[in-house]
Amino acid sequence: VFKNVVRAPDIPVYAVMVAYREDSSPVKLNLGMGVYRTEEGKPLLLDVVRQAEKLLVNDLSANKEYLPITGMPEFNKLSAKLVFGDDSPAIKENRVITVQCLSGSGSLRIGAEFLAKHYHQRIVYLSQPTYGNHPNLLAAAGLSLKTYRYYDPLTHGLDFQGMLEDLAGASSGAIVLLQVSGHNPTGVDPTLEQWEQIRQLMRLKGLLPYFDCAYQGFVSASLDADAQSVRMFVADGGECLVAQSYSKNMGLYGERVGALSIVCKTANVASLVESQLKLVIRSMYSNPPIHGASIVTAILKDRDMQSQWTNELKLMTDRISNMRRQLYNALRDKDQLAMDVVCLAGTPGDWSHIMRQVGMYSLTGLNPEQVAFMTREYHIYMSSDGRINMAGLSSKGVSHLVDAIHAAVTL
Ligand code: PMP
Repeated sequence: VFKNVVRAPDIPVYAVMVAYREDSSPVKLNLGMGVYRTEEGKPLLLDVVRQAEKLLVNDLSANKEYLPITGMPEFNKLSAKLVFGDDSPAIKENRVITVQCLSGSGSLRIGAEFLAKHYHQRIVYLSQPTYGNHPNLLAAAGLSLKTYRYYDPLTHGLDFQGMLEDLAGASSGAIVLLQVSGHNPTGVDPTLEQWEQIRQLMRLKGLLPYFDCAYQGFVSASLDADAQSVRMFVADGGECLVAQSYSKNMGLYGERVGALSIVCKTANVASLVESQLKLVIRSMYSNPPIHGASIVTAILKDRDMQSQWTNELKLMTDRISNMRRQLYNALRDKDQLAMDVVCLAGTPGDWSHIMRQVGMYSLTGLNPEQVAFMTREYHIYMSSDGRINMAGLSSKGVSHLVDAIHAAVTL
């Protein structure tokens, strides 16, 4: 009965991972999928997570019964505080409803399902470019996708005017997906002044902010600083949605732990929204898993473990900054040796955007042909849009990567 099923195309980021695994070259580099690697190129299990898991194993009162549909209440409360701040008036006024979901992706999907059923506008605007799974997660719920300008390939920075123009021209009441910090794939975030202008414009036009918070703490190592954008929108008393992920900042990728918060105008509306979120969740997976949320809760509720977590976050962000610096320096020095070579890349002599971009990623400006060349000739695996996962690079890979980039742009 399934013989007419048509083969689906490969999912690019996984295809890159498979190709990397199958490559036997000793110099191969995986800069594709967005996961953190140590300087030795190994996955990192945070010490604080290990410690939390020991506590959980020894907790004799623990059980494996079903969680409520909306997840672990303490986890939800702590997650809301993490993103909105300890003193958030919206939390104190009970205007925020938070539900535990299956990481950032699951949170985005639950929020999208809720909006498709209960919000009057189905159009959602996504940054151009955006995280590859955003369109799938939102369209699958029945939302219609449009884009707003975001990245300027000439400056490798924000196309702020373009963004404002597109938001100003958006259909009234449209949903706008915004990334809180550490924008994937560009590594480009608005400044706080720019966020303020975006906020004013969106509120003026009645656009609904839907925040994706997948990298809190990965930009500045300050959890508070990295959540400023969303807090500005909450401070004005208006509505918004926030999908949170603990994949990157606690290294809990495979535990699938995250949360969706919906900030409402009143406590009464928040309770109505919660009742409908329960129906959405019940029909999709009934209730979320225990383990990851228990780890997060153990860490967030304990002052010492929380500070240990932020220390470990800082080690990760410092290593990423260090890799940006090393890559930039090596490219700059290599360029100086080859000044008279005609280059084909957009900005072959200026790689300073690698230093300006923030978070886990750098959108290098390398085009798909150059990336294909680097994979074929240098065994370097990355997404075809030229995005590098800076957290996948280590010191010993820098000179090989620079050789590859240099060869690609001087082909
Ligand atoms: N949003 C963004 C911007 C991401 O980059 C990712 C993962 N790379 C996610 C959401 C979803 O991640 P997860 O489902 O693991 O939380």
